[in-house]
Amino acid sequence: MTARRFLVTGGAGYVGSHCVLALRDRGDEVTVLDDLTSGHAAALPPGVRLVEAQVEDAATLDAVLADGSFHGVFHFAALSQVGESMAEPLRYFARNTGAAITLIEACRRHGIGGLVLSSTAAVYGEAAAQPIAEDTRPNPSSPYGESKRAVEAMLHWAWTAHRLPYAALRYFNAAGADPGGRAGEDHRPETHLIPLAIDAALGRRPPLRLFGTDWPTEDGTCIRDYVHVTDLAAAHLIAFDRLAGGPVTWNLGTGHGHSVRSVLAEVERAAGRPVPVELAPRRPGDPARLVAASARAQAAGWRPRHAALAEIVSTALDWRRSHPGGYGQC
Ligand code: UDP
Repeated sequence: MTARRFLVTGGAGYVGSHCVLALRDRGDEVTVLDDLTSGHAAALPPGVRLVEAQVEDAATLDAVLADGSFHGVFHFAALSQVGESMAEPLRYFARNTGAAITLIEACRRHGIGGLVLSSTAAVYGEAAAQPIAEDTRPNPSSPYGESKRAVEAMLHWAWTAHRLPYAALRYFNAAGADPGGRAGEDHRPETHLIPLAIDAALGRRPPLRLFGTDWPTEDGTCIRDYVHVTDLAAAHLIAFDRLAGGPVTWNLGTGHGHSVRSVLAEVERAAGRPVPVELAPRRPGDPARLVAASARAQAAGWRPRHAALAEIVSTALDWRRSHPGGYGQC
C-alpha cells in the first residue's frame, strides 16, 4: 500500500505514541497534535512532525489540515481518569466532548476521509453480562465514560448528516509497552496497576495499595481484561482501513480476565521480587469485573498478538527498567 498521511491528536501519549509507531513502521507520514500536558515529546519516533497545541484550537487545526493531503485522523487527545472525572465533570465534558466538536467540524471542513476515536469500556458502566458484547447498551457510570459516549453519539450523527466515516474503539485495560522498547507507559501521576506494581517491586515506589479484597470474584480482587498497547495500536490501523464499509464500534480486549492478585503474581515472577502490598478499601467507581467480547473487531481480522499476561507484564517491566524516571530521564 502506498504511504498515507495522518493527523494523530494525543500522539505523544501512551496509546497514541504506540499508534504513531505502527503508522511509521508501515511507512505512513504522521503529524502529531499534542499539548504535551500529559504526553511526552520523547515518545515520538524520528520523522514525526509535532504541533504543540490543544484540539480546541480551531485555527491551528485549520492551518495543519489546510493543504488537504491528510487521509485521516486518529483522535487520542483526552482526559482519561475516572476518579478525576467524578471530581471535575465539567472539565471532562469541555476537554473530551467539547474539543471533539471542534475536531469533527475541522474534519468536515477539510474533507478528511475518516476519524478513529479512542473510546473506552467506561461507556458501559456496570454492565450486567460479562464478557461485554459490542451491542450492549452504553450506560456510563462516570463523567469520563459519559464524555466519551457523547463523542461517539456526535460521530454517529455527523456520519448520518455529513457522511464522515468513523470508528469508535472501546479499550479495556491498555497495558504493556512496545516490544522493541521504543515507547512505554509514563503517566504523571501514575494510577494504573501494572506500572505501580512494577515500581513497587523495584523499590521505586511505596507498597502497592490493593483496592479491595472483598469483591465477588474468585480471589476477592477485581477482574480486568488487560490488552497490549501494541495490539490496540494495530486495531486502529485495521479500523481505519475498513471505514469505506461504514462506521464501526468495536471492543478491544482479549476476552480473558485477570484478577489484581494474579497480575501481582505475574509481576513478582517477571521481576523476581515480591510486590509489597498494603490492603486498602475499594476504590469508588471500580466495577468488580470488566471483560471484553470483541467479536466485531475479530471478524474484521484483528487478533491480539501479545495477549499473554506474561508478555504484557514483561514488556512493561523492560521499559520501566530501561526508563527508571520515565521519558526524559533514562
Ligand atoms: N488497582 C489497585 N491498586 C492500584 C491501582 C489499581 O488495586 O494502585 C486495581 C483497581 O482497583 C482495578 C485494577 O487494579 O481493579 C486495574 O486498575 P487500573 O487503574 O490499572 O485500571 P482501570 O480498571 O481503573 O481502568
